[in-house]
Amino acid sequence: MITDFVIDKQKLKQLADKFNIKENSCNALFKLYEDSVSKSIRTQYLAHIIRSLELSMREMTGNRLFAINCVPMPKEKIIRNAQGRYNEGLCFIIYFNKDLPEYEKRNAIAHELGHLFMVAFANDQLFKIYTQSKKMYGDGNDMEPLASLFGFFAIAAKNQFYQNDAPTCAKNITAHGWNGLLNDFLKLLNSP
Ligand SMILES: [Zn+2]
Repeated sequence: MITDFVIDKQKLKQLADKFNIKENSCNALFKLYEDSVSKSIRTQYLAHIIRSLELSMREMTGNRLFAINCVPMPKEKIIRNAQGRYNEGLCFIIYFNKDLPEYEKRNAIAHELGHLFMVAFANDQLFKIYTQSKKMYGDGNDMEPLASLFGFFAIAAKNQFYQNDAPTCAKNITAHGWNGLLNDFLKLLNSP
């Protein structure tokens, strides 16, 4: 594993020195970042997809606070691996089994997002294009394969990213390494 960007004691010391901050303050800020932001990032499955659906929902519903939230739950409190609850125009909450393997959590959440996509977007949009077509789903189980299809699209796109695009990012974003990053931020200190 390349550890160029892993922040350890020595790197914190270097940062404190370069940015002219007390070492204690630097350590304290890093710990705070790790305990709050970093921890929460690890539970934000499919965050990009959720964010973009959320923005579309805000536009469509006119509710600027429309939110999609994922809530980890103990297995015994939910019936399936994940359950979505749609409060029309207000929010969509996905409760998921917190003990699933990581890849299954992503799949289950993607499937639930598929339900929201079908209910809130797909039927309206498809109806506009094919005016004589009926709804693509009925109530209940008829929607299941379509929700899975959406989930599949979403996960396939993410996997494409991890397999191909992420290594390309390495060239464009991380090629200058730790010292390059540090120098860039030191330059920011002097910019207006
Ligand atoms: Zn379902």
